[in-house]
Amino acid sequence: MFALPKLQYKFDALEPVIDAQTMELHYSKHHRSYTQKLNDALMKHKGLAEASIEEILGQKNLPLVLRNNGGGYYNHTLFWESITPSAISAAQLTELTQGSTSSQYSRLKQALDRDFKSVENFKKDFSQAAETQFGSGWAWLVEQQDGRLVVGSTPNQDSPLMVDIQLHGRPLLLLDVWEHAYYLKYQNRRVDYVANFWQIVNWIKVLERLTD
Ligand code: MN
Repeated sequence: MFALPKLQYKFDALEPVIDAQTMELHYSKHHRSYTQKLNDALMKHKGLAEASIEEILGQKNLPLVLRNNGGGYYNHTLFWESITPSAISAAQLTELTQGSTSSQYSRLKQALDRDFKSVENFKKDFSQAAETQFGSGWAWLVEQQDGRLVVGSTPNQDSPLMVDIQLHGRPLLLLDVWEHAYYLKYQNRRVDYVANFWQIVNWIKVLERLTD
């Protein structure tokens, strides 16, 4: 059985980038619903009763109900950890972009510089993936098996952990571009939501997820 993970901040902590009402509905309604439906579906798939969410999503021929609700459970769990109040994010970004080579972030900066030419260029590519995902889905920064970092998007609740995803690999950062993630505050202006997202990225989590 999976449990709705505890949020590490209050619903209003990400204001004004993400408003408190959106956070509350997104977490208490949407994420809770994915969690419950995942647990319900696992009652009918007893073979996966002891599996981790990563193991479930990595199954070949994953049943659609587990794909949608397992993906929804996992993606949102990762997303909440990937964002943080803007003052914390700003300090992290300064160290990432301007810190010395002995900074803990230099490993991440080197990887982004190597595969996107610069942190700025990475942000541009990721933003474009988020803006152009048609309909509901997610934008991702993924570490491929060969160590290369790539950006892209997935529809619905698909995740890079799924074996049939072209963007297969280890997720480092993600952004929810379902309308439920931004419509109350931004209405149809997904571009503004994506631009503001960079104020609340939890860069230490991106760094921690990067393979040594
Ligand atoms: Mn969502």
